[in-house]
Amino acid sequence: MPTTTPAALLLLGRSADPRSERGVECPGDLPLPSDPDLVARARAARDRLGDRAFVLGHHYQRDEVIQFADVTGDSFKLAQQAAARPDAEYIVFCGVHFMAESADILTTDHQKVVLPDLAAGCSMADMATHEQVEECWETLAEAGVADTTVPVSYMNSSADIKAFTGRHGGTVCTSSNAKRALEWAFEQGEKVLFLPDQHLGRNTAVLEMGLSLDDCVVYNPHRPNGGLTHQQLRDATMILWRGHCSVHGRFSLDSVNDVRERIPGVNVLVHPECRHEVVSAADVVGSTEKIIKVLEEAPAGSAWAVGTELNLVRRLADRHPDKEIVFLDKTVCFCSTMNRIDLPHLVRTLESLADGQVLNRITVDPETEHLAKLALDQMLRLP
Ligand code: SF4
Repeated sequence: MPTTTPAALLLLGRSADPRSERGVECPGDLPLPSDPDLVARARAARDRLGDRAFVLGHHYQRDEVIQFADVTGDSFKLAQQAAARPDAEYIVFCGVHFMAESADILTTDHQKVVLPDLAAGCSMADMATHEQVEECWETLAEAGVADTTVPVSYMNSSADIKAFTGRHGGTVCTSSNAKRALEWAFEQGEKVLFLPDQHLGRNTAVLEMGLSLDDCVVYNPHRPNGGLTHQQLRDATMILWRGHCSVHGRFSLDSVNDVRERIPGVNVLVHPECRHEVVSAADVVGSTEKIIKVLEEAPAGSAWAVGTELNLVRRLADRHPDKEIVFLDKTVCFCSTMNRIDLPHLVRTLESLADGQVLNRITVDPETEHLAKLALDQMLRLP
């Protein structure tokens, strides 16, 4: 008989995993989703808060939530926007847990960052825990390569992992600057430990830096020594953490071939978190912000199959009715944790803040914040 896994319980917002970067306990009562006044309630609470609150909405959020965002963007743009609003007492982050942590790191101490649902984590960020990464570093030390390895951590990682990266002289990167981050890292050392998304690391190293697939090894945190011998670690140039995005990782080469058959002349546009064979078969590869720009600039009448989160693809299709924009996969797939933030959670957050009560505040402890900021600042200094 199948048993319910801790991961499944977490997705349902139940149970708690002490190794997870996200919490799952949300205090207080939620308004009913069927309440016909939810939009009016959100507007009224937003008006009461005025400039004291700044609402950030990630591109993958639901329409019912994104309509209340003061600014929309990818995780890095939103963290920058939060930092640019020192007068806002409350930063309401409609995104996932690691993004709210980054906003807390980059904002001032008096600002309070709030995540409307604490169960809105990121499955990719959860694939690299602090404990596992420390263990990996010990393995690298035993193999004699820790001194020559530079950690590069994707923005989509917990504050703990960013702090680890800062402590070991590495940098954070985004999907837009991963190549520049790797170029910088290879000037500092001989190898890179890329966390936590193996696909972004591999795609950048192989397709943009000219490394071969044989230069890359995958460190599996669930196997002794990552499932690698010391010699394999010594021979590798890129040590990729075995993590992936559950949304982008589902696109396959079959999805690309199918859509090319269904829509002759279609352009395939995918995010670099997709698997290597998908990215290799695509026509254009780019970050969320690049995907938005490419579609804005595409000529009327052109056809696009887009491999990224479905809320965004739908919104882009609505925004550009003169172009044919379809989801790359036949099966719909939202980011389940991003989708946890819905109108009832937003209403509860805004109303409680307007009443002076701060629910679901996200804070990063000062030591972690200091080290994580070293890695974030290094990213900002990338040439
Ligand atoms: S889309 Fe992927 S990387 Fe982004 S929050 Fe969801 S699981 Fe994480």
